[in-house]
Parts: sequence; structure tokens; C-alpha cells
Amino acid sequence: MKQKVTIIGTGLGGLASGLWLIKQGYEVEFIEKNDKPGGRLNQIKKDGFTFDTGPSFFSMSYVFKEFMEKCNMELPFKFVELDPLYSVNFRGSNKTYHLYKDIKKLAAQFQEQEPDFEEKMRTYLKKSKALFEDTFDIVIRSNFENLFDYCTSLLRVNPKHLPVLFKTFWQHVNSYFTSSEVRQIISLVAFFLGRTPFDTMAIYSLLSYTEFQHDGYYNVEGGMYTIVNSIVDELIKCGAQFTYNTEIVDVEREAKQITAVVDSKGNRYSGAIFLSNADAALFRGRVLKRAKYDEAHLAKMEWTMGYLTFYIGVNEKLPQLNLHNYYLGTNYEEYALNVLKDPDTLQKPYYYVNAISKCNPDCAPEGCESLFFVCPVPNGQYKKDWSDRDQIVDSILTDFSERIGVDIFPKIATRTVYTPQEWEAKFNLYKGSGLGLSHKMMQIGGFRPANFDEEFKNLFYVGASTIPGASLPMAIISAELATQRIAKAFPAY
Ligand SMILES: Cc1cc2nc3c(=O)[nH]c(=O)nc-3n(C[C@H](O)[C@H](O)[C@H](O)COP(=O)(O)OP(=O)(O)OC[C@H]3O[C@@H](n4cnc5c(N)ncnc54)[C@H](O)[C@@H]3O)c2cc1C
Repeated sequence: MKQKVTIIGTGLGGLASGLWLIKQGYEVEFIEKNDKPGGRLNQIKKDGFTFDTGPSFFSMSYVFKEFMEKCNMELPFKFVELDPLYSVNFRGSNKTYHLYKDIKKLAAQFQEQEPDFEEKMRTYLKKSKALFEDTFDIVIRSNFENLFDYCTSLLRVNPKHLPVLFKTFWQHVNSYFTSSEVRQIISLVAFFLGRTPFDTMAIYSLLSYTEFQHDGYYNVEGGMYTIVNSIVDELIKCGAQFTYNTEIVDVEREAKQITAVVDSKGNRYSGAIFLSNADAALFRGRVLKRAKYDEAHLAKMEWTMGYLTFYIGVNEKLPQLNLHNYYLGTNYEEYALNVLKDPDTLQKPYYYVNAISKCNPDCAPEGCESLFFVCPVPNGQYKKDWSDRDQIVDSILTDFSERIGVDIFPKIATRTVYTPQEWEAKFNLYKGSGLGLSHKMMQIGGFRPANFDEEFKNLFYVGASTIPGASLPMAIISAELATQRIAKAFPAY
């Protein structure tokens, strides 16, 4: 008889795990709180416009390709490679920097600010590459049995990298570049981890290698939600069951096994093996009611920032926009030091605009643009009241209109806003923290909530708050690591 795995949540980590498991001969059932799959990788369709709700691009495309090979499948969606990777504008300046992968073209952007940029960038990327190559398989793509096992693995990392453990991303970048614009632009990637260059370890400068050299960034033909649709189609074809609009709030247990999970209406779902794609810390605290993850402990953990996201359909083409656009201010250091906790940073916000209709014209009616704005904000630990949400959105749209030289207010055809409160309510993100637990030293690897349960032998975890961490490629790696454990403990037949 087939082994059955019950997966709680249909984020990318859950879906990818289910895909591999079903291909190996497991029976797979999903239980999802929302009415459609994808978790943070989701989609809004409204008034003729289509928006990706969360991820709008990703790195490490090879992780997806290799994973599909492991599932004996062709990649079920098409990558669109981005070059330039993104564009950056500083408040008060007419100049737009285009971040090309070609170092010579990139250097030309900074000719005035950092004349020897090319040489410095090559040296910087050499170090980023070494960091990536010396840690990826050992630390990022590995399961750890316990803290001792993790620390032993760390000993295999070349000791020449030790100094970067004691530096911030910002300090590291500053030691290579002198111009303020270059420092800001190169350190932007730290924000992609949900914190800032000022509190992210320099070891994550390996991300500069992944973005500029190793693989770059990608979008998906048809929009990011194509990833979810194509995996779900395959899962349904293979016989997976999906139950939506169902939130798991409790478990039934017998000795060291879970026998069933229970939803908010009291319905029980019995099973043999359980995989939680709900946040690995919150599930332990709020569903398993485990003291080590109670509300007081959760509040003491370090969480990533919140995001104010809004989805705007505009009745006009905006040729002055690129696909991925960053709009920065003039007080980077002050801003970054405060953005996690101080709502006043929203007086002069920094933000990102994704114009999905640039590469997926079907996402907007003819002659229109679909715009997705992301603004880093304090999560619900530090900003509880969002009654000013519309004023904040309007102030960003005013700033945006000034920067692109078009008043977009009269051209807005549709508008949807998610504050951290919506992100929390929809996907059970702790206080609306966009990327889950932060990636500080004491919350990564063997210190992160493990992908197997401490007590129940048949409960495992996948997703952003267990190993290895946040982002789409990490969700795929997380699925590889969690399913390796399941296959070892409970072979398919
Ligand atoms: C605004 C934003 C922008 C981002 N941009 C990017 C980007 O450009 N590139 C990138 O690589 N990454 C990006 N990310 C990060 C990326 O979206 C996440 O790291 C990844 O999608 C997380 O996947 P996951 O497997 O952890 O599942 P999640 O997406 O967290 O999904 C978990 C699922 O479990 C469900 N669930 C939770 N609790 C329960 C319960 N008790 N019962 C039933 N169901 C439950 C939720 O509803 C959800 O569907 C972004 C994130 C955000 C918020």
C-alpha cells in the first residue's frame, strides 16, 4: 500500500515537496488555508489586469531545472532571463542606473562615480564567488542532524572566510567601493533577505555572485504564477488531492506520532506522514502549542521586515519604466538603520516597482500597464496601526509620478493594497513579516527551526522559516531536504 503524506500549506516548498513525493510513489494530500495554491507566490486578477502578488523574479534557475530532473520531468514553465537585472533611480536625480550582467557595460554606468569600477567589481565578485562555492553545498544544500553536526559541517568551510562572519554586508561592500551610489546599489541585494545591509552578515555577499555572474535573475513566461499552475496541474494529473479554505489549528497525537491534523471547524484529517509548509516556528508554537515557541519566545526571535505591497492597473503605457525598478532616496544609511522599526521612514519611502506587463503583455489590457509596488515597512511588531495605509500609498504614488514625469492618479484603473496585516491574515506570516525568520547567525543552519520535528517522528517541515531560508530557489532546496528526510524515514513502499 502507498504511504500517504499530508501536506499543510501549498506554498512553493509544499508544492515542490508534493511533486517529488508523488513521483516517487507516495500518495499526497494538501490542506490549504486559502482558496487557491501558491502561498506568497500568488496572483491577483482584477478589472482585466493580472499581478504577481509576491515574488517577481528569482536567481539560481538551475535549482529549478535540477529539481525537475529529479522528478523525471521537463521544466513545466519557461524562464525569461533578465538583462539588465534591474534599474535604480535616486530621488532628485534624472539618471537611471541599469544593472547589466556584462561587467564592462555595468562599469560604464559608474564611469563618473567610480572610475575603476570594473577592476573593483571583479575583485569583489571573486570573493563573492569563493564564498558561494565554499558554502553552498556544505551549508545551504545540506541537512543537519543536530547542532553538533552543523558545527562540524562549518569546520569544512575554508577558514579564510572567517572574517566575513564578523562584518556586515555594508562594511564588506565599503571595503571594495568608495562611491556612495555604488555602495548602495551593490548592497541592495541584502534587502532581498528581508533585512538591511547594516544587519546582514557579509557572508551573504555571495548573493552578488549569484545575481551578477553565476546565473542572474529570471522571470517566467506568462508571469510568476505560471510556476504554481504548472506544478499543481502535474500534481492533479498524478492524483494529488487538494482541500482549500481549511486552516489547521490542532493535531491529534498518539505517543510520538501525529495521527491527524484538525482544522478550525473541528474536522480531522488522519494520515501517516505530515509535512508542514506553514511557518516552521509558528506551527510549533500555535498549532503544536510547544512552550519553546510560545508567543513570548516568538516575539524574541528575529523576524524579517514587513512589506506594503500594492497592485495598480494604469490606463496608459509607461515607456519610462523598466521591468524591475528601484526608487531610492538620499539618506540610505539613516533609512536602512530605521526601516525595520520606525514607521517614520515612510515619510520618505524607498520602494520597488515591477511592471509585469513589460515582459508579459497579456497581464494588462491593450495600451495599459500592470504595476506591482513593494515598499519595505516595519512588521506588525513595530507598526500595529495601518489606518494610514491609503495616505502612505498615495504619497508613494505622488513620488513615483514626479520621478517618471507622469501624474498616474487620473490613469489608475484598479488598485489593491496589502499591508503586513493582510500578509499575516492571508498566509499566517508572523506579524506580517514578509520573509519569515531572519537569516542572522543564530537563526541559520543548525540554529534554524529544524525540518524534522523534535517530538513527533512523522512530522516534517518545509519552507522559508526552516532550512535553508527565504526565496523561491531556497523553497525548492527546502523541499529537496525535507523529502530526503521523509524518504529515509518512511520509504515509499
Ligand atoms: C512581497 C514579497 C516579495 C517577494 N519577492 C521575492 C522575489 O522576488 N524572489 C524570491 O525568490 N522570493 C521572493 N519572496 C519570498 C518568497 O515568496 C518566499 O520565500 C516563498 O514563496 C516562501 O515559500 P514557502 O514554501 O515558505 O511557503 P509560503 O508561501 O509561506 O506558503 C505557505 C502556505 O501555507 C498556508 N498555511 C499556513 N498556515 C497554515 C495552516 N495552519 N493551515 C493550512 N494552511 C496554512 C499558507 O496559506 C500558504 O499558502 C517574496 C516574498 C514577499 C512576501
